[in-house]
Amino acid sequence: MDNLYQELILEHNKNPRNFGELKEGECLKQEGLNPLCGDRLIVSLKLSEDGEQIIEDVKIRSDGCAISRASASMMSEAIKGKTVKDAIAIFHEFHDLLLKKHDPSVCPHLGKLEVFSNIWKYPSRVKCAALPWHTLNEIMEQTSKPGQSTSE
Ligand code: ZN
Repeated sequence: MDNLYQELILEHNKNPRNFGELKEGECLKQEGLNPLCGDRLIVSLKLSEDGEQIIEDVKIRSDGCAISRASASMMSEAIKGKTVKDAIAIFHEFHDLLLKKHDPSVCPHLGKLEVFSNIWKYPSRVKCAALPWHTLNEIMEQTSKPGQSTSE
């Protein structure tokens, strides 16, 4: 991996942003596991209650390899303040990036997350980088189901 990219990953591993858990009852929580590597994390998400579904706060307690921790840290920065809809769009771009199908000239929203653009060369690490996003996506799928009624 490129040195600069490697440094960024190591730095986020050492000082993960938005590390920890949000208060029970005020957030949505989901646990993610990658048994192949032993990565484990808990994503907590606080959404605005005004129907906009803005991610007001996110915290991630990550326990695992440098790649999974750095990915979780950078994901938290990328989605904080965004709507669930936007976060899902970033998730799809990141997913394409991991599969080497991403074209930054078409989808320029990844920013720093592009550091994972070479990860497809290391298939065993792809799951590590994808773990936080799949965990986040499980929460978002629960919240963005069509037919959600506000008439109650
Ligand atoms: Zn891992």
